[in-house]
Amino acid sequence: MFVCAARDMGYEVIVLDPQSNSPAGSMASEHLQTAYDDQQSLDYLAEQCAVITTEFENVPAATMEYLAQKKPVHPRADAVAITQNRIQEKTFIQSLGLATSPFISIESEQDLARAEVFTYPAILKTSTLGYDGKGQVVCGSAVEVAKAYQSLGQVACVLEQKIDLAREVSVVLGRNTDGQSFCFPVAENEHANGILDVSMVPAAVDPDLAQQARQSAEKLAQGLDYIGVMAVEFFVDRKGQLLVNEIAPRTHNTGHYTLDACYSSQFQLQVRMICGLPAGNLDCHSPVAMLNLLGDIWPEQGVPRWDAVLDMDNAFLHLYGKKQARKGRKMGHVSFLADDTKQARQLLDLARTILC
Ligand code: ADP
Ligand code: MG
Repeated sequence: MFVCAARDMGYEVIVLDPQSNSPAGSMASEHLQTAYDDQQSLDYLAEQCAVITTEFENVPAATMEYLAQKKPVHPRADAVAITQNRIQEKTFIQSLGLATSPFISIESEQDLARAEVFTYPAILKTSTLGYDGKGQVVCGSAVEVAKAYQSLGQVACVLEQKIDLAREVSVVLGRNTDGQSFCFPVAENEHANGILDVSMVPAAVDPDLAQQARQSAEKLAQGLDYIGVMAVEFFVDRKGQLLVNEIAPRTHNTGHYTLDACYSSQFQLQVRMICGLPAGNLDCHSPVAMLNLLGDIWPEQGVPRWDAVLDMDNAFLHLYGKKQARKGRKMGHVSFLADDTKQARQLLDLARTILC
């Protein structure tokens, strides 16, 4: 979707992705199918490109640093590195005076003793490489933490308090090389099994909380000296307190609604920010509800009933061109526009009954 946005604006894009059948690679002018640290590919990228970006947080920091010696790389390697590591990320968030769920780090067998005085229920999460709820175990006691630490392979983890959630919200923003930031409207998100299921905009939160979320996101972007599009996920607890969950150094699933409901999408914003162009109009022109389409809904033969969804008014289907549908794999999404989020949600629920 980033490649499409860039092409729409007249740019050519070279994609480095180790996978064959790379959806971005297939849209790009060239697909370099090599490892992220392949010297020849990195030199080629640096030689050919005016600017380099990533939309995957697990590209090695060394790769980004190497490229940055030769060409502008946005976002910066050290900003991405902080978001790659939950311990560093939460420590950074708190250092800016923003609240997170209470946590401790578990980096060795010895640290397990500290789990004995922690508040439960809690979630043990691997510090690196987790996504879509992977690498997480809910624990009811220190004994369970010890077991979970083993089952996760004794890698560095955070143990964080499980929050009784009133709701989850997120902010997608772009920040330019002059340090100005531009926020899309706050989205309200629902997860199922740790994976985003639904996003709705406008979020049903009071304007003060929405404003606080945007300001927190901007503060984090500034603190990271971030350039490009990033997202901040928040929890709202039962007391109405806003807690920062995590930062995604890229365009984000909770910003996919912008493709159909905003004048300019998060992917256009990413192109504009890294290319030094004006931000454009980030307003929503319609309330929207977005449904994620996971591989789970694919029948053994053929595809889900897209015809029925495409027959609905104001339903916008996006499929990512991933060749294999697997359980829990994000294959696409569909956005429903309506006069208000209640109606958009009704359309979404109807589509769900047809598709799932
Ligand atoms: P990922 O990197 O997989 O997105 P998250 O930490 O965002 O990991 O967790 C995924 C989802 O699991 C969250 O959006 C939320 O719904 C739930 N979750 C994670 N941590 C907590 C927590 N401390 N309290 C309550 N729910 C949580
Ligand atoms: Mg998350």
